[in-house]
Amino acid sequence: METLAGMEGYEVYERSRRRAGSVELALVRGSGGKYLYLSRALPGFEGEALSDGGLLCPLTYGNAKALVEIVPEFKPRRLPEGPSFGFGDRIGMATPGHIRAVRDTHVFPVLAQQSVRENARTGRTFAEVLADAVFGALQEGYVGGFAADADHLKTIEDALEAAELGYTLFTCDPSDHVVPAEELSEKELRRRFDALPQRKELEREYFGKTFEIKGLGRLWFSELDLMRAAVKYLRAVEFAAEMYRALAEKLPRGFDFEVSVDETETPTSPLEHFFVVQELRRREVEIASIAPRFSGSLEKAVDYRGDLEVFRRDLRAHVAIARALGGYRISLHSGSDKFSLYPVFAKEADGLFHVKTAGTSYLVALEVIAKRVPDLFREIYKFSLARFPEDRATYHLTTDESALPSPDALSAGELPQLLAEPNLRQVLHVAYGSVLRGPLGEELRKVLFEFEGDYAAALEAHLGRHLELLGVRE
Ligand SMILES: [Zn+2]
Repeated sequence: METLAGMEGYEVYERSRRRAGSVELALVRGSGGKYLYLSRALPGFEGEALSDGGLLCPLTYGNAKALVEIVPEFKPRRLPEGPSFGFGDRIGMATPGHIRAVRDTHVFPVLAQQSVRENARTGRTFAEVLADAVFGALQEGYVGGFAADADHLKTIEDALEAAELGYTLFTCDPSDHVVPAEELSEKELRRRFDALPQRKELEREYFGKTFEIKGLGRLWFSELDLMRAAVKYLRAVEFAAEMYRALAEKLPRGFDFEVSVDETETPTSPLEHFFVVQELRRREVEIASIAPRFSGSLEKAVDYRGDLEVFRRDLRAHVAIARALGGYRISLHSGSDKFSLYPVFAKEADGLFHVKTAGTSYLVALEVIAKRVPDLFREIYKFSLARFPEDRATYHLTTDESALPSPDALSAGELPQLLAEPNLRQVLHVAYGSVLRGPLGEELRKVLFEFEGDYAAALEAHLGRHLELLGVRE
């Protein structure tokens, strides 16, 4: 990296150099962190005035917002046609590696993607997540466009906050409103169905009708099917429609909307998928994607555990319905590293897919730490082990704790390989918030800043493998 004229102690990220009118700008790196450099102060930017008339700006949301006003290529945008891929970044330092992974592919990247739960755990905000993605794009000089996903939204307020900030993709998670109808007796099911104000209308819409789905055949609802689908999902549909209407009012120029029911107790059957989307359509909700809950187990941090043929059969049905009802994407919330699923997913979804990853980029960061500062890795592992009983609570995990290696017994040379061990990956994976919020997170960020080339290269290789298996490499 070169230094900037008149800027002692700062190096320039060469790819970031650009011009906006008569102003030169670049991302620079000092000993304490990164800054946005402007050759002349401009309205909207805040920073330290330099003796040459320039401005050195911290990487805040306010400065990111001012930047996208003068360089609109860095502004998040809607998803184009074709496959898309979400690169969640829990640390806020992964975007350059994500961009390198996505170069030479035909997949549209979502570079800002965090859920409300992730932000609560890491102590970040939607604003910070977006700013980190924007400055990451600037660092790489990436002008190919990206989306920003406010993931797993459970309240209208959160959705509107993200809309205000400039997010473009809103993932509505109505799972709190999904009723586990499988557990109800037929009598109770009937009682609840009869109590629905929309009962008559639903019977008119669905009873005695068949729905021809190209590539799948005919769908029809038995009385029991309809009662179950309606009792299970109707409140969730109403909630999603309410969020959609609130967003439509706030963003009249358009936005992308995903409905995710992937965190419900039971797999989403094709018939239920059809019912949910049909009901959304009747409420004039246009979706970009739906995340069904798939059969089998998509546990965090490890590969898929389940019958691939069952997965394939269900997926085929979901894709056929998605094509028949408007051509939205099937979204796979991977929970990291579902490598065995990818080729099947890509083949069956045939370009109509979205994949989300997030924890995987955190684990890649830990690989860099294990190689560069083994003692810090050991500390993080010890801490994650201690946190495990509490941090695992909101996840479905079958971790075998007896198989976990003791952190003290490990030599530095063994650490990188150790990260392939599934039980250990899960322990590390779920503790991310506890680590990143505390003093270890501070240390981790320092090391990643010092070895940022390592982190970008490791992300490029690891996420490149994801994209390779999805068949989107050129
Ligand atoms: Zn999800």
